Formats: sequence, structure tokens, C-alpha cells
Amino acid sequence: MIELRGIKKTFHQQEVLKGISMAVQKGQVVTILGPSGSGKTTLLRCMNLLEQPDEGSIQVGDVTIGAQGAKKKEVIALRRQSAMVFQHYNLFAHKTVIENVMEGLITAQRVKKAEARERSEQVLAKVGLLDKVNHYPSQLSGGQQQRVGIARALALNPKVILFDEPTSALDPELVGEVLAVIKSIAKEGITMVIVTHEMSFAREVSDHVLFMDGGMIVEEGTPEEVFQKPKQERTKRFLRRLSGETDELLLQQPQVQLQKNPNTLPKGVAGHVV
Ligand code: ADP
Ligand code: MG
Repeated sequence: MIELRGIKKTFHQQEVLKGISMAVQKGQVVTILGPSGSGKTTLLRCMNLLEQPDEGSIQVGDVTIGAQGAKKKEVIALRRQSAMVFQHYNLFAHKTVIENVMEGLITAQRVKKAEARERSEQVLAKVGLLDKVNHYPSQLSGGQQQRVGIARALALNPKVILFDEPTSALDPELVGEVLAVIKSIAKEGITMVIVTHEMSFAREVSDHVLFMDGGMIVEEGTPEEVFQKPKQERTKRFLRRLSGETDELLLQQPQVQLQKNPNTLPKGVAGHVV
């Protein structure tokens, strides 16, 4: 579904991606972990050509593009293969929830308004927000706003959904509802690439885990291989640091909430479930 070969990207003489090759099969959930500044966002943005790589080739769905000389038509075709869910939601503040979801369908896919509305209602139901269709983003919690972001991506019916730290801007108590929605989508077999720091979630939802550092993939494997038996010192150090943070977070949470519904809550995350 996705194949990247030898992707390199330099910003102002700083080589941010140093030759990334990776593949994502249809229906797979691949998560990308790594410290801040390691190039995760840039890599995701290369997958839909929001960033133009300096070297390498990108295949998403049935469109392949080399770093040099892509025609505008090919770029548009490649972008249509995926949809992105952003860290800061990126919703239109002056549009209602349903208008936010309809927007891409009408402008990018030229879907008729009535059909766009119907499809938008369907995906908003999926993320549990049918009762909020006429609200504006400012009237929603962060978790609800991000669920609109997910509905907007789903509405486009893309081959792949790219998530860039979808919960890292949220208050801890709102993380659970968003992760629950992502998990339910994953179960439907949609191909996903997820950049996240939520380790328990990543462990549960991923088919394959990549660990990035300094613009390279340092380690990859099944969740068990990467989380339980990491080989590289850099991975071990990162996981140790992150699990320290999670423990701290847990200590700050009321434990009652965690025990309320342990089956539906990602381990280590207190929050509401949709
Ligand atoms: P991550 O998502 O892993 O935190 P990023 O891909 O956002 O990492 O950034 C990797 C590095 O590239 C950082 O040092 C960042 O400052 C730099 N960078 C990212 N985007 C740009 C840009 N548009 N212009 C200049 N530098 C950038
Ligand atoms: Mg980032």
C-alpha cells in the first residue's frame, strides 16, 4: 500500500531524513515512535507530498512518484490516496462540525452537497459526534475536535490514514476517547500510519512498529520485538524515558477511572470512552 525508498530531505543544510525505506501493507497499522526532532512529521508529510523529498521514491496506493520531476497531476493523484489527522486538529474555526467534514468532499472530490452531507453524517456517527453536527470547533472539547479531524479523514475514504501525534495536544483525560475511536477504525481494516507517544496503545494496535532517531529508522519489528526485546541502545533509552513519563502520568490520575472499564481503555491511559 505504501512503499518508500531511500527518502532524503534536507532543510537549511540540516539533513532531517537520511534515507528512509519502509513499506506498509494493505490493512496494516504501522506506528512510528521516536524522540522529538527525529523527523517523524517530515516523513509523514513526505508520504502525501506536503514535503517534497530531495531523493527517493514514494508509492502510495497505485501512484508512484520519484523525488524529481513529478507532474502536478501525479502529485494530486498521490495526495488523494491518503488523508492526514493532525496534532492540532486543523479545523476551520468558522465552519460547523459537519461543514468541516463536508469541505474536502466538496472541494477536492467534487461530491454533490447532499451526498457529502450524508457521508459526513455517517462518519460523524462513527466517531460518536452526531449530536454535535451544528456546533463550531470552539464549542467542543479537544477530544471532540480531534474526533472531527478523524471523521474528516474517514469521509474522504482514503486508502491510507496518516496520524501525526493525534493525542499529544490533548489533556490526559481526553486521550482515551480519541484512542478508542482510532482503535475501532483499525479493526475495520483501514491502512494506517500513526506517529504516537502512547506506548500501550501502540503495542495494542500495531502490526509493525518503527523507531526513528536522527532521521533514520533505528529499529523495527512487531510490537513485541520493539517494546519487549529492543536491540538498540537508543530504542531502550527512549522506551525507558517514555515509560517513566507514563508512570508519572498514571500516578496523577484518579485510579477509579482506570478501573471503570479496563477492557475498553488503552492501558495506562485514564479517560472517557465513546
Ligand atoms: P518530529 O516530528 O520527529 O518531532 P520533525 O519532522 O518535525 O520531527 O522535524 C525534524 C527536524 O526538521 C527538526 O529539527 C525541525 O526543526 C526540522 N524541520 C522540520 N520542518 C522544517 C521546515 N519546514 N523548515 C526547516 N526545518 C524544519
Ligand atoms: Mg512531529
